Amino acid sequence: MTTFLGVCGWPVAHSRSPQMHNAALAAVGLDDWRYLRLPLPGELFEATVRALPALGFRGVNVTIPHKEAALALAGSASEAARAIGAANTLTFEPGGGIHAENTDAPGLLAALPPDWDPAGRTAMVLGAGGAARAAVHALLGAGAGVAVWNRTPERAVRMAAELGARAVGRPERADILVNCTSVGLHDAGSTFKALPLDADSWGTGSLVVDMVYRDGGTRLLEAARTRGASVVDGSEILISQGAASFERWTGQTAPRQAMREAVAPIAST
Ligand code: NAP
Repeated sequence: MTTFLGVCGWPVAHSRSPQMHNAALAAVGLDDWRYLRLPLPGELFEATVRALPALGFRGVNVTIPHKEAALALAGSASEAARAIGAANTLTFEPGGGIHAENTDAPGLLAALPPDWDPAGRTAMVLGAGGAARAAVHALLGAGAGVAVWNRTPERAVRMAAELGARAVGRPERADILVNCTSVGLHDAGSTFKALPLDADSWGTGSLVVDMVYRDGGTRLLEAARTRGASVVDGSEILISQGAASFERWTGQTAPRQAMREAVAPIAST
């Protein structure tokens, strides 16, 4: 019998998780497992998710706009998912329970270069949505001093107070910059108009991380790389959070190289 996994979102057509996870399942020999794309509007989310275990699903990833609803419907949750207030991974337990986790947070840390341990460093997080909450939680937990900027300042102030970071009215220079806004996703050219960043401040000696990923890379990372910064592409974070979900569901070590080749075939050659 086929075992199913999937990603629930609305919209979800853009997600690279199906290609990444199906490549991973094939690479470890789980030939009777399939990872499906599950477009679910808000009003169908909870009832559909609750019906999935009976259809052979072991677990699902959850993306925009369902991450908070996923946490709310789960019977148990990891400490990180509770603190962040959102879950991107649901696991259907054999006894019928639903367990929620947030692998975006450990995924971000796992994607950082080995010589960029955040402990004792400063970090500037842009954004105040779900990805920003995960990044702030992860960086604080790893020992960084974290400042937050958001286009809508009240959201940054509220999030910073809840998680223990510092909200700022303008992005400050820091060792690590993490873009958790959706700027750069659709129009790479508008990045430095939408974000009040001075590209010259993010060069040699800094690490620039973009949660956004797109074919050809983002303008933010291109500018940072040109100025000598170390960079982390959002596709590496996608792979790391996906690997954590995969290991939770299958009990097998995630085949990261197969996942990388499936997500970014050009970058990995
Ligand atoms: P979200 O909850 O919708 O938050 C979006 C954030 O972007 C908000 O802070 C919003 O600011 C800001 N924003 C949107 N348009 C803006 C603009 N024109 N100028 C300035 N700020 C703008 O989304 P999310 O779940 O946090 O995801 C954010 C991005 O991270 C998405 O592109 C998503 O695809 C990506 N992501 C990647 C991964 C990965 O694995 N690589 C994982 C999670 C998310 P306001 O509060 O002012 O609206």
